[in-house]
Amino acid sequence: MIDLKNLTIEKAHKDFLDGVYTCRELSEAYLKVIQNKNKEINAYLEVYDDVLAQADIAQKKFFDGSATLMTGIPVAIKDNILFTGHIASAGSRILENYTASYNAFVIEKLKNEGAVLLGRTNMDEFAMGSSTQTSAFGVTRNPIDPSRVPGGSSGGSAAALAADMSLVALGTETCGSVREPAAFCGLVGLKPTYGAVSRNGIIAMGNSLDQVSPFGKNVRDAEIVFNLLSKYDAQDSTSIPDTLRKPKSKKSNGKSIGVPWHLFAEGVDPLIMENFKHSMDKLQKAGYEIINIELPFSKYSLEAYYIIMPAEVSTNLARFDGIRYGYSAKGENLKEIYMKSRGQGFGREARRRILLGTYVLSHGYYDAYYNKAIKVREKIKTEIIKAFETVDLIATPTAPMVAFKLGEKLDDPVAMYLCDIFSAPANLSGVPSIALPSGNTEEGLPFSIQFMASHFSENTLFEVGKKFEEIR
Ligand code: GLN
Repeated sequence: MIDLKNLTIEKAHKDFLDGVYTCRELSEAYLKVIQNKNKEINAYLEVYDDVLAQADIAQKKFFDGSATLMTGIPVAIKDNILFTGHIASAGSRILENYTASYNAFVIEKLKNEGAVLLGRTNMDEFAMGSSTQTSAFGVTRNPIDPSRVPGGSSGGSAAALAADMSLVALGTETCGSVREPAAFCGLVGLKPTYGAVSRNGIIAMGNSLDQVSPFGKNVRDAEIVFNLLSKYDAQDSTSIPDTLRKPKSKKSNGKSIGVPWHLFAEGVDPLIMENFKHSMDKLQKAGYEIINIELPFSKYSLEAYYIIMPAEVSTNLARFDGIRYGYSAKGENLKEIYMKSRGQGFGREARRRILLGTYVLSHGYYDAYYNKAIKVREKIKTEIIKAFETVDLIATPTAPMVAFKLGEKLDDPVAMYLCDIFSAPANLSGVPSIALPSGNTEEGLPFSIQFMASHFSENTLFEVGKKFEEIR
């Protein structure tokens, strides 16, 4: 029996090299767990039928000496990442039968290394949500407590990893969609610097915010996946060229942590605050300097995000018109086909955001909403970059609450949007951010803290993350 619970990428790699088990045997072990647990958890929408064939190809790399750390590692991928010949539905009825005609950049990278792609995971429709309850294909349950949500929108990937149905997992972030489910499922989630990982082959939600983001059970696993995926790609015009991928030189030794205490004024569960303070105390004892910082504009992150994101959503989702992709309803004329296909193909949350987005972009409101939000975003970005002149890291709780019950917040979109309150600053400003498990409630639900660092300072995040793993 392979101890999947405590397995890491490096441990699996060593075991492959030592012949403790083969790539096929490891994949079989994961398939078995999937068979036992997926019915209840609904993490995977589809398990690929060529998993063992992929594992055999990986094994050959060990025989011919071309194996790398990711060779033979079983990975779960979110349903909005294109994998040639496989369905990518983005959790939506409208793309239920859409088959990808090319590989996303990140899939190409994983395939080149011989990683084993296990299947595609459930998600909020078009990545819109914080609980994986807006998927057209049923909710995903949190493996730690199946009466609760796994977080979202990458809840399927988080649940797959937390339930040992994969060794690592890929999600995407537009605003917290990896960090928040990582928090709810007791995992590490890394949102890379905007432009670090190519968006080529990702079904777009908000182009100026989207970023493929890895989940790991520990910091090192997330780091290994990030190092593989973080490469320039000429196919993505926002991908940053290698020469520009330099971290800002560290202010000191990577040990000063800014905490914007004033942002925690309302709406944060007292238990979360208590855990956060406790984590800061531990870091201080470990030699970190904790500094109070002010981020006055970041207070408006959520407001800016919920204008900019729907604006981008409404443009991105315009292509799903029943003609070129996916679901097509019958109609008397073109307009009727458009209206019925979109009306029946999109769920409520997607329709809500398309309406919001077209409204804030419409003539007469564009300046009042969209342009103003863009200006606020610039202010937020400037103040965060400036903060990193005096501190190496910024710390906040990852989410304002622990994993909530299934069904909760579903009828109250604003309550759901508040889950993103601490996520938004990193996505709006493009800086990297990592979520780390920081203990558990009495019922065993995970707490989580998050760090941000300046653009391309992922290494500073990995350093503090590994330190925190030792002391938490
Ligand atoms: N909770 C965010 C939203 O609903 C999640 C977006 C994301 O990161 N994909 O917009």
